[in-house]
Amino acid sequence: MRDFSYLRANSVDAARQAAALPGAMLLAGGTTLVDLAKCGVAEPDTVVDITHLKGLDRITVDDRGAMIGALAKMSSVADHAAIKSRFPAVSEALWQAASAQLRNMATIGGNLMQRTRCPYFRDPANFPACNKRTPGSGCSAIGGVTRGHAVLGTSETCIATYPGDLATALVAFDATVHLGDRQVAVDDFFLLPGATPDREHAIAQGEVIIAISIPASPAAQRSTYLKIRDRQSYEFAVASAAVGIEFEADGRTIKDLRVALGGVATKPWRARAVEEALKGKVLESDTVRRASLLAIEGAVDHGANHYKIELAPRVVARAILKVGETA
Ligand code: FAD
Ligand code: SF4
Repeated sequence: MRDFSYLRANSVDAARQAAALPGAMLLAGGTTLVDLAKCGVAEPDTVVDITHLKGLDRITVDDRGAMIGALAKMSSVADHAAIKSRFPAVSEALWQAASAQLRNMATIGGNLMQRTRCPYFRDPANFPACNKRTPGSGCSAIGGVTRGHAVLGTSETCIATYPGDLATALVAFDATVHLGDRQVAVDDFFLLPGATPDREHAIAQGEVIIAISIPASPAAQRSTYLKIRDRQSYEFAVASAAVGIEFEADGRTIKDLRVALGGVATKPWRARAVEEALKGKVLESDTVRRASLLAIEGAVDHGANHYKIELAPRVVARAILKVGETA
């Protein structure tokens, strides 16, 4: 890790000003930034500590929805009674993320900004070719070991998976990222790699995430997050699904459905084709399984990650049927 200056921000304006300096990076829980600095991926000239900003850890929930401050800890949000009852998928996604120690340290803003776990990205000493780290240098993963890589939203320059759990639930329920002067739909906040995989978020140098809002909805209230991983704790998703359902008065016909996928795409992936195929239909196992195949429309594999094309629709179907059982 190389030397850097440390600056503690005492107001959001001061944080923005400091973060606008070339080479400045914000520090919240530090659970991503310190790792990336240690392995030489992040090389900040100035670290701007925002952990002392007052009020940014607030969580409020009412009939209109939830407003979650960027400095709220993952564990506080996961354990918040109203988040659990009105947005179960959000709480479950957070409970299944990382470890208890990390969740107690890590913040919601930092969680959205976490970087891919592509092993080549995190090993600059041995793999200099990585378009996400060094634009134009190539991609070590394409032609390399691809078991954890994405099958949706990939490009010729990058096939790295977006690793987070929370954002998958946020995309399903139309959350918004508040950047102070402007707001961005969470689906637009995460960028496809295209020709510029180094740009992952719709946030400019000097902008600070202030909060995330999630509108209340019956689908968000009847929701779940299903995460499949190589081991049952302390592991990233190989495939996951956030699902929410609102039923008609008969309790069987789907009025509103939300489906988003994690672990298989280059960004949190809303599966709108599945939603449209099932709206107005009676929830029934065969229908759900057939419609869930649409989740993986347009998928491209790179050999070792082919299994995700089979796994993802099964995870979606299981999550939909699991929520259906609560009707
Ligand atoms: P920091 O490390 O402080 O910051 C991360 C990035 O966000 C930095 O670039 C920083 O500049 C930027 N940033 C921070 N706050 C803001 C803000 N308010 N506005 C703008 N930019 C900001 N995550 C999962 O979802 N699921 C998992 O299973 C999972 N497993 C993990 C396992 C391990 C071993 C580790 C180390 C991490 C794991 N994570 C997982 C990722 C973890 O959730 C993130 O590291 C954490 O949420 C980052 O939050 P932080 O506050 O520590 O961010
Ligand atoms: Fe880098 Fe993306 Fe290739 Fe991984 S998949 S080596 S992050 S360019």
